[in-house]
Amino acid sequence: MLNGSKTFITNGYSADLVVVAARTSPEKKAKGITLFAVETGMPGFQRGRKLDKVGQPESDTAELFFEDVRLPTENVIGEVDRGFVHMMERLPQERLGGALSNIAHAAQILSETIEYTKERTAFGQSIGSFQHNKFLLADLVTRVEVTQAYVDRCISKHAAGTLTAIDAAKAKWWSAEVQNEVLDSCVQLHGGYGYMTEYRAARAWMDARVTKIWAGSNEIMKELIGRDLGF
Ligand SMILES: Cc1cc2nc3c(=O)[nH]c(=O)nc-3n(C[C@H](O)[C@H](O)[C@H](O)COP(=O)(O)OP(=O)(O)OC[C@H]3O[C@@H](n4cnc5c(N)ncnc54)[C@H](O)[C@@H]3O)c2cc1C
Repeated sequence: MLNGSKTFITNGYSADLVVVAARTSPEKKAKGITLFAVETGMPGFQRGRKLDKVGQPESDTAELFFEDVRLPTENVIGEVDRGFVHMMERLPQERLGGALSNIAHAAQILSETIEYTKERTAFGQSIGSFQHNKFLLADLVTRVEVTQAYVDRCISKHAAGTLTAIDAAKAKWWSAEVQNEVLDSCVQLHGGYGYMTEYRAARAWMDARVTKIWAGSNEIMKELIGRDLGF
């Protein structure tokens, strides 16, 4: 029997099948977790309303509820009590995927912003050619390219099967931070238009905020990296 609830599940409102990590041997703590496939229509499985988010309206986010859900043994994913190990095996890939999309979004909107600042003029010159903005754009391009180099190194390690969860944590938090800084500057460089949702810079800025929070917040990533340093 599965009992409990989980808030903030991406695509939880529309999913037909959800993977639940549940305690099966509570006394064994992390070594007592099992992964289950829970299907729509199973008695006791319910979902809450679509949550109202700041960004990313294309994907829904919902709370899921489980009350005395009976699960047949074929719905166990992997081995009983080894769910934590199974999740740990996939953690580097999940974090790397987050880092990739963080830096890809930042790079794309920055390139669109560079074009915008070449076309938009004020006081008889392009917005980008004011020294402050030129230096800012140089700063942003450098941040994106240097971050991309680290993420690329992680991709090579992942392909070779040697990417650690800690290196992936570094890529995730850093790229989320850089993405948010870059997109905030892109909004600024668009002036008032940067605050209008019809502009991609505005929407990307709203979409990006959650990347410092979800899938383990930046603070939790740093906590893990700090522990790895021996603290
Ligand atoms: C849009 C969205 C989609 C999501 N999708 C999913 C999903 O599909 N599946 C899923 O399982 N989860 C999902 N989540 C949940 C998400 O992973 C959590 O919200 C996130 O990990 C933070 O946990 P919390 O909300 O409980 O914050 P809390 O743990 O309450 O943290 C609050 C603040 O305290 C800080 N903090 C907490 N602990 C420490 C510490 N030890 N040291 C320093 N600071 C600390 C946090 O960094 C944060 O700033 C989603 C969340 C959102 C917003």
